[in-house]
Amino acid sequence: MTEDNVDDLIRRVRDGDLRFHELEEHADADTAATARRRLVESDAGVDLDAVGAYGFPADRADANIENMIGAAQIPMGVAGPVTVHGGAVEGERYLPMATTEGALLASVNRGCSVIDAAGGATARVTKSGMTRAPVFRVDDVAEAEALVEWVRDNEDALREAAEATTSHGELTDVTPYVVGDSVFLRFRYDTKDAMGMNMATIATRAAAEEVEAATTASLIALSGNLCTDKKPAAINAVEGRGRSVTADVVIPRDTVEERLHTTPEAVAEVNTRKNLVGSAKAGSLGFNAHVANVVAAMFLATGQDAAQVVEGSNAITTAEVREDGLYVSVSLASLEVGTVGGGTKLPTQGEGLELLGVAGGGDPPGSNADALAECVAVGALAGELSLLAALGSRHLSSAHESLGR
Ligand code: NAP
Repeated sequence: MTEDNVDDLIRRVRDGDLRFHELEEHADADTAATARRRLVESDAGVDLDAVGAYGFPADRADANIENMIGAAQIPMGVAGPVTVHGGAVEGERYLPMATTEGALLASVNRGCSVIDAAGGATARVTKSGMTRAPVFRVDDVAEAEALVEWVRDNEDALREAAEATTSHGELTDVTPYVVGDSVFLRFRYDTKDAMGMNMATIATRAAAEEVEAATTASLIALSGNLCTDKKPAAINAVEGRGRSVTADVVIPRDTVEERLHTTPEAVAEVNTRKNLVGSAKAGSLGFNAHVANVVAAMFLATGQDAAQVVEGSNAITTAEVREDGLYVSVSLASLEVGTVGGGTKLPTQGEGLELLGVAGGGDPPGSNADALAECVAVGALAGELSLLAALGSRHLSSAHESLGR
């Protein structure tokens, strides 16, 4: 990058020869980002030095951003290490978290140390599958029924068309839903280590072409919102989307009393009245204290799609008193994670995945994304445990006062 090149791009945009979004076609990615940032600085009368002080080659973000002017830096820390006894991960892990919320890592870290004192948390992915649900128009309900029958009789043909677009993805099922003259086909795929939204969309486009060629149905939208991506939706909470993953732990009574300064009874009561009764009264989809906090921070640190925190926080936390102490679990119904594709290729996010030992494709395929899901679930469990205990011991406001302000 030279100053002359930057000045030349700025001049050509000012003269109307180049459009703002075309700069990468005429210069390397860093030069284009610098020129665009300078144009914005002068048009808006602001100084964007900090935005421009990014620490990776701009071309590494080619597939992730348009109109790049720099990078938004978010502080990153770790909680743990915490011991995870997962189906796809075993052993101690530091949990990378990027956030601007003071007190969050301190709280999750406290939960991790209590989980570790209890011998670690167990975690399992119990269901996996990324969905895409196109909507088709038919003439009437008789045609709708015919389409549903055709789909049931031709799932193999749909599978062949969909799987021809990917070397990793597998179509696992197609579920039809009829609403008047609209028919939704909810396709579910095993997307292995990819979060899979692009993969599922491309595969579903090919399958939808088969449907249109063989039936009277017309494709209206490749996503009919019954998928459901990036919107709060009960279907994700019930049927799952991405990974459905659960983590649990039993904390000995002594540990609860000595480390968390509360009792199993107090934590269980807070959970029942707050997470279960309060959430039910609010008509909430998430029956938990702050799972979104851990999901968001770990998503940002590992290159996940941040907008999918919406469904990532579809989680139920349970707490009960047992003879040997306090049982706590968190079940995330629709955690959409990947260790390949999307933002996982960016340098800092890639390092976040390396820290967890889950970067890239797993052996067997899918095992790295399962392991990531299990680590997020254990982080969420630590966050739930710590916050419930803080409420149980009424220490919440004092922690925020000393750490967050
Ligand atoms: P992607 O960036 O499209 O890349 C995933 C590809 O990696 C797969 O399709 C696969 O290629 C390849 N791959 C290599 N090793 C793999 C392995 N071990 N397991 C699975 N795949 C492997 O990623 P994506 O996960 O499908 O989509 C994520 C992106 O979608 C994010 O950037 C997100 O922001 C965006 N997004 C898109 C939509 C949409 O509607 N299109 C909606 C929300 C989010 P093959 O398929 O050739 O095997």
